[in-house]
Amino acid sequence: MAYQSLYRRYRSRRFNELVGQEHVVTALKNAIAENRVGHAYLFSGPRGTGKTSTARILGKALNCTSLEADGEPCCKCDSCISFAEGSSYDLHELDAASNNGVEAIRDLISKVALGSPGRTKVYILDEVHMLTSGAENALLKTLEEPPSHVVFVLATTEPQKVVSTIRSRTQHFEFELISANLLGEHLRWVANDAGLNVTDEMIDYVLRVGGGSARDALSALEQTLASGGTPDDDTAVEEVLDGIILGDPSVVISGLSKAIQSGRPPRVIGEILIDRLRNAFLTSMGNSPDHLSDHQAEMSKTLSERMPLATITRSLETIGAALVGMRQSPDPRIDLEVAVLKLSHPKLQTDSNMVLSRLDKIEHQLQVLGASTASESPTPEKIDHSSANEDTPPSPLEEVSSIEALEPVEEDGILSLSEVESIWPEIKKNLSGKAKARFSGGRFISIEGGEVVFALPNEIHRDRCAECLSEVEESISKKLHRKTNIHLIVESGGQETVPQEKTQTLSAVSSDEDIDVDSLENADASAGDGLSLVVDSFPGAKIVTDE
Ligand SMILES: [Zn+2]
Repeated sequence: MAYQSLYRRYRSRRFNELVGQEHVVTALKNAIAENRVGHAYLFSGPRGTGKTSTARILGKALNCTSLEADGEPCCKCDSCISFAEGSSYDLHELDAASNNGVEAIRDLISKVALGSPGRTKVYILDEVHMLTSGAENALLKTLEEPPSHVVFVLATTEPQKVVSTIRSRTQHFEFELISANLLGEHLRWVANDAGLNVTDEMIDYVLRVGGGSARDALSALEQTLASGGTPDDDTAVEEVLDGIILGDPSVVISGLSKAIQSGRPPRVIGEILIDRLRNAFLTSMGNSPDHLSDHQAEMSKTLSERMPLATITRSLETIGAALVGMRQSPDPRIDLEVAVLKLSHPKLQTDSNMVLSRLDKIEHQLQVLGASTASESPTPEKIDHSSANEDTPPSPLEEVSSIEALEPVEEDGILSLSEVESIWPEIKKNLSGKAKARFSGGRFISIEGGEVVFALPNEIHRDRCAECLSEVEESISKKLHRKTNIHLIVESGGQETVPQEKTQTLSAVSSDEDIDVDSLENADASAGDGLSLVVDSFPGAKIVTDE
């Protein structure tokens, strides 16, 4: 028997063998079991998520002579066997990407008219968005008055390009990228069934290359096995990171070329870089991820020591943005090259304000992507600050001297708002009760002229914060390993002007920290009288009783 690729060999034969897409499978099985299958379906979704497999199983079930009660085909009758062999006369597939003209559709429609009664003919039109408008019109006429024994399945990766007149005549099912968990399980099952010797490392690599597509993951598994293991990540990626640390574009580009030459897609290289940076970020925050091997943990520790936190966060942002862009890009390699070049060359960097304004958007997009690929690795948002640095802060004198000894800020180290915000919960936890209570009433809003701008709801509150400003500046400077000044302002618009959505964000992040009960209960005399403590603890509050 000729060699069959893993993907073909393990193509799902029944609905319950499909990986993921439960919502589609349930709906179709019910429709078949209850004999209310529609005449036209639109299956949309990324490549390799099971659209064509599902359409074939649908066709098989509709022609099965001993259909199971739950709508599954028996896979044993003559019809099922002819479907499995690809020799059934009841299944017609047309790839609209290569046969997109009116003639191809007319030919198909003439066959539709000749259908043998009693059997259900299933027509699969793959990449239906590629049809010419003439072909679309011809198809539309048939969809308007479909013969009773015909079911159309239109499959597409780009449903928005399918004309609305066709879309509105179909039942639309959206196929999703398969989660890493489900796909990992499937890969292990395939490997076990085929007697293949795969390691956890291979599965991780293959899942990354597959990017949620069963077909791509299985081809990657085959390639990996054929080449005798996963490509060596370390050397080339290490070189890219070195180039960023050294600020040397030639090192970065050389490392990137080596990584690409070893056969990995640019998206995968980007994801490996993100993984390395994220692990270093977590390590430097004292939260080394526990899924790392000893070797990986050691690499993360080294990277977190060699690369300043500001560079790590900026690299995460820049490469993360490039990964988002790559999804739509005709040449993802260029997106990645531009990103790492920017990071390695200070003059190519956009100024911090531009980066900040794009950051919210990128973070949102990444969250959306993260939800669809359901990665299991921890993200920076999930840091558990409660287990962060518990050491008692050194005395103010020691802190001042250590800050003054710091090197002047290099051009490379542009301070970002997100960086300050990311360390703030931990900093705040270690502040004195007074400073903690007072600073809980405001928020960081921007970086201006190298200073962090902290906004407070009113003048009284600002003056109170000014009294303990140096303590906060020192804590932040120490954490960031750079001298950091804070500029206190009153938020424009008057007394209680923390905007509604910002208030929600703030309380969602740190609702239990806004009011520091400890500072009320354990107040010492130096913290001021009871009334001012209450005012401090309730941001925006003012004393209204005249005396
Ligand atoms: Zn059957």
